[in-house]
Amino acid sequence: MPRTPFIAGNWKMNTTKAQALDLARGIARGIPSGGVQVGVAPPFVYIDAVVQASRGSNLLVGAQDCYFEKFGAFTGEIAVEQLKDIGATFCLTGHSERRHVLRESPDLVGRKAHAVYEGGMTLIHCVGEKLDERDSGKAQKVVEQQLEELDPSKIDDPSRLVIAYEPVWAIGTGRTATDDQAQEMHLFIRDMLERRWNTNFANAVRIQYGGSMKPENAKGLLKRNDVDGGLIGGAALKAESFLAIVNAAL
Ligand code: PEP
Repeated sequence: MPRTPFIAGNWKMNTTKAQALDLARGIARGIPSGGVQVGVAPPFVYIDAVVQASRGSNLLVGAQDCYFEKFGAFTGEIAVEQLKDIGATFCLTGHSERRHVLRESPDLVGRKAHAVYEGGMTLIHCVGEKLDERDSGKAQKVVEQQLEELDPSKIDDPSRLVIAYEPVWAIGTGRTATDDQAQEMHLFIRDMLERRWNTNFANAVRIQYGGSMKPENAKGLLKRNDVDGGLIGGAALKAESFLAIVNAAL
């Protein structure tokens, strides 16, 4: 079953409002007419404006994070319902900066992931090992534990589940996993999805690679069998480089 590649830009805590709108418009104008899904995750405060600016285009707009409770006394947090209310359609969970810089526990990451899915949004669940974990042969174990944050009895639509494999040592470092390293882990992830769900489900889930993906290395990564797109940080902040990656997915 062919999987439509999904290229998503994670803008992190970057851009002013004017820059966000410029970037979104530039990307929206350049999206190919088919064959690839394209999304951006701006900072929370600009999601609404970016949704308005990209109306009429195929650009999907999502969020980098959310909270798992529905509404209430959770100062500073943003609920899935609020994200949907302003037109966001996907949300990341478990990004390595949330896990390792903001110290989110596996339990918190899992609760957020289920809130996103149960709220009807597309979930991009990020997994990936740190350098010492790779060097000590624990990469697969770490990724397995992070995938176990997802409960198969609560997630049944593979079109709304995306796994982003992002080795922490490759994020923002300029050091990319080789095509073989990426393919090997993506296959491991798909095998695990098959064991925990079933073959059809596993074959339909998109698995993105993230970690210093750029126009120069995108084609090699994206042509591997189990690499179904990318989650892009640095190279997503310029329409030209982001669109070059989008086109490499065709
Ligand atoms: C990311 O943070 O999701 C990411 C992949 O960043 P970069 O592309 O800058 O490595």
